[in-house]
Amino acid sequence: MKKLITVVIPAFNEQDTIPVLVEKLAYFFKQYIQYAFECIIVDDGSTDSSRSIIANLCQQYPWLYYVFLSRNFGKDMAMKAGIDQARGDAVITMDADGQHPIELIPEFIQAWEAGYEIVYAYRELSFASEHRNLRMRMQHFRSRLFYRIASRLTDLKMEQGLSDFRLFSRRVAQTITQFHDKELFLRAIFKWIGFKQKGIPYRPLQREFGQTKYTLRSLIRLSLQGITSFSVKPLNMAIYLGLTISVLSSLYIPYVIWSFMYNHPISGWASMIVTVAFFGGLQLMILGIIGIYIGKLFIQTRFHPPYIIETTNLHIHTGSGVEAASRPSTPVHTHIMK
Ligand code: UDP
Ligand code: MG
Repeated sequence: MKKLITVVIPAFNEQDTIPVLVEKLAYFFKQYIQYAFECIIVDDGSTDSSRSIIANLCQQYPWLYYVFLSRNFGKDMAMKAGIDQARGDAVITMDADGQHPIELIPEFIQAWEAGYEIVYAYRELSFASEHRNLRMRMQHFRSRLFYRIASRLTDLKMEQGLSDFRLFSRRVAQTITQFHDKELFLRAIFKWIGFKQKGIPYRPLQREFGQTKYTLRSLIRLSLQGITSFSVKPLNMAIYLGLTISVLSSLYIPYVIWSFMYNHPISGWASMIVTVAFFGGLQLMILGIIGIYIGKLFIQTRFHPPYIIETTNLHIHTGSGVEAASRPSTPVHTHIMK
């Protein structure tokens, strides 16, 4: 029997890009007949006509399935919703916007067959010099800074430009399913779980339609979230910072004693205010960092489901088409997932 490969695609307002991608996949699956394929599109609470488009495409392609989440849960959660449902011997995750070149999939599969459990794509570094306009360069700089800081703080070696385009084995998929993080940061989790991994450099294609969902603000939020969910180093930093400042300020003591003894008036209202304000700010910042961790504890201890599936056709299709193996006919999927 052919091995089954499940492609999981998270989508949020991707009405223009989905049909193009599905068509490309259909073409690819037909070429690559050594394997059976299925594809699960997880709609992450789209507000455009993505859903009806996806549902229509599912009529057309028997290997295509959909999972509609009840609202926007974020890309990582959407991916996990798909991974939780995937039954393939290998699972591939990729973006809906067509930036992840399908042509890389054979290379993924080859590495997987050669014994790698996780094969992932990362953006090539040399690509940097080709950034023509300032905006692209800024974006590049931002992502570089993000990976630099994130790697340093989490002790996970994350390549710059690490993407969510990857293939992993059944075993890894089952491992991911066991994660119950309410704040998922899959890129780091895939690094953290270990196994034999292989990175493949690639050049991202241009986004053809729509626009990126990540703004600078959401990127900062994401970094803070990602780092604090994988490391308590920011807390240690507060200790070292405090220690350093204490030591430095103690150097000031002899001067104060000396002025006191020789009746030398110490002036400086301005420096006083600046110092008070500065340390006030610093303390608030560190309090904020502690607050983030407390917030995380709170969120993680609530027994809310991490995502909610509204509808899915997963139990309807038995799959034939391009050799998708048959799905069990148990209608399990229209309820809340734990
Ligand atoms: N996405 C999602 N939920 C979100 C944001 C994005 O499912 O809340 C999907 C989006 O539809 C796309 C993928 O995640 O398939 C990557 O999004 P995008 O292209 O905006 O990110 P970038 O490529 O800029 O990292
Ligand atoms: Mg994109």
